[in-house]
Amino acid sequence: MTLKLLTARLVMAVVVPVILVTATLYPIFQAHLDARLDSTISTANAKIEAGERSLKREINASINHLLATAEMPLLKRYLNGVGVAQSPSQEEMEQFTAAQLHTLLDTLLPHYVRYTQFSLIGLDGRELLRVGHDPLDQAEHHVTAIFFREAMALAPRDLYISPPRRHLPHESGHAVGIPVMDITTPVFDTDGTRKGVLRFTLDWQYLAADIQQNLVMNAWGHPFMVDAEGTWLLTEAKGPLSFGGSFATDSPEVWEALKLRHRGETALSHRLVIFSAYDARTYHYQSLAGMVASQPGRDPWQLGVIIDKPSLSELLAEDITPLLITLLLYVLSITFGVFWAISHHRQQSLRHRTQRLSHEAHQYARDVRDLYENAPCGYHSLDSDGRVVKINRTELVWLGYSAAEVIDKRLYRDFITPETREAFDAAFQGVRGPDQEGAAECELLTRSGARLPVIIQATAYIAAHGFVHSRAMVFDLSERKEMEETLARQAMTDPLTGLGNRRFLQDQAAMEIARARRSGAPLSLIAIDLDHFKRINDEYGHDVGDLVLQAFARTAKEQLREGDVLCRMGGEEFAVLLPDTAKHAALQVAERLRQALETSPVEVDHDVSEGGQLQYTASLGVTMVMAEESSLKPAIKRADRGLYVAKEQGRNQVNWQNDTAD
Ligand code: GH3
Ligand code: MG
Ligand code: MG
Repeated sequence: MTLKLLTARLVMAVVVPVILVTATLYPIFQAHLDARLDSTISTANAKIEAGERSLKREINASINHLLATAEMPLLKRYLNGVGVAQSPSQEEMEQFTAAQLHTLLDTLLPHYVRYTQFSLIGLDGRELLRVGHDPLDQAEHHVTAIFFREAMALAPRDLYISPPRRHLPHESGHAVGIPVMDITTPVFDTDGTRKGVLRFTLDWQYLAADIQQNLVMNAWGHPFMVDAEGTWLLTEAKGPLSFGGSFATDSPEVWEALKLRHRGETALSHRLVIFSAYDARTYHYQSLAGMVASQPGRDPWQLGVIIDKPSLSELLAEDITPLLITLLLYVLSITFGVFWAISHHRQQSLRHRTQRLSHEAHQYARDVRDLYENAPCGYHSLDSDGRVVKINRTELVWLGYSAAEVIDKRLYRDFITPETREAFDAAFQGVRGPDQEGAAECELLTRSGARLPVIIQATAYIAAHGFVHSRAMVFDLSERKEMEETLARQAMTDPLTGLGNRRFLQDQAAMEIARARRSGAPLSLIAIDLDHFKRINDEYGHDVGDLVLQAFARTAKEQLREGDVLCRMGGEEFAVLLPDTAKHAALQVAERLRQALETSPVEVDHDVSEGGQLQYTASLGVTMVMAEESSLKPAIKRADRGLYVAKEQGRNQVNWQNDTAD
């Protein structure tokens, strides 16, 4: 049970701190994550803006170059001669102009990395002039090309922008060409007659590289640039897409989000798309262009960044310090929790133990009190004056008083009979004295006047300042006394006849001799022995013998006065002590006894004796206790002698003896 409780507390001690620390730290980390996301978004926005600006700058600069070239007088002069009949000198002049133009453009090309080719195309779609190296673009007739047709329809200073394209591999086995983008404008001679189109081919990889570099974020950000059809326009894309691939198919979720708006951010499940549209048709206001046309459905382009939303683990992995602090917080709070659980548990078990001990102490106190109050002996305490300060119920019951009547009101001495008060005083003196203890056998005087024999055993309770009170145990001796008396009685009684025995006779004789001495009254003694008793035993059995002995006791008692002491000396021998009886009277008593015995047969069963009666006789020796005799011994001797004489003379007779000599 205790182990279960401790386990539950330990679980709580771990769970609660973990919840608390988590609840405290979670919003902090969340805010940290949000801040990180916000800063990422603003960085991304800044980068997109920079990328957009760079793209715009490059394209606008290219437009301006194209338009400036188209306006160039040398070009116009050259165009004057194109398509008209010429004299040989004019033709020579034309070739010279063409050479000048070619040289100019050829010189120009290496200065601008973004251009890969300049081409001048005549009204019939034939290339009049080409500068630059684009080995994969071998077509010299562009009459069916979209750019050509579109540009031919434009007014001066208008422009046609082709979507970025990649040259197809040439049959000659050349490597795949770099992605390029064409910008085309119509050209006119000095008279304003349309003479064809001028085309600048731009290195798209160069333009896009600048954007790509701008848009590169940290590990979570992926730049993208797609046209209005969802065609991937970046050249260094990592992953399944490469230039010209279909982003719409590859990432439909992002693509759908991009289609909804031209600018802003869209949250997907684990990603965030930040994007902005770039439209070359409308973003050329810093250029000299009039109108910009492009292939339908391919503009605007969307450029932006896809950000994987940063997770807590990534954030923590970036910097170990918060992780360590978090772990430290968890460890500290769990340690605190466990410490609390263990100390609380220990306190509680201590409390339980204390409660149990206190309960046991109370129970013990009750038991002790019960033992004190209801012990089979009396307990009391007396102050130095002998006044009762404490007394138990047992003793109060003996005395017949209530506690209120006794405590602090009565001297214990008052409950002692005057006869035994001296012993009590002496014992109490002993308790207050140096021995500090005392005992006395006294008699208590109860409220009803009865006397209760007791033994009091007391010791002193001593404090620093000396005697405080006595503490006494009082034992009821009445039972013991009764027992003693019974034993004493039994010791002096013959069990068969109920008469006193030889010791009883000696006891009584001592008293009677003393009394006779005091009073001078005569004291006589009769010794009795049943005649031929052995014969009775032999003839009728020992039981009948016993009956005879009992019958003798009854018959003899009937013949004696109160005060005469009849006792059995042993066997079938008896003695009678007769106080206040002189020789004559003693002889009379003896004779009366003899006759009574002779005439009082014992009632027995008929199968024992015919007629159911058994007759017996006794011989008696009579003497007097002499005044000078201090014991009964000599008198017994004399009476025995008288008995002997009576037996000798034929039994069933009385014989007097007063001769003190042997
Ligand atoms: P005498 O006339 O000479 O006195 O003869 P007696 O047979 O009475 O004398 P004796 O002393 O020889 O015999 C006494 C007998 O008393 C012997 C003994 O067995 C018997 N006796 C002694 N005490 C008891 C007793 O308590 N009960 C019975 N039934 N017999 C007893
Ligand atoms: Mg005898
Ligand atoms: Mg006898």
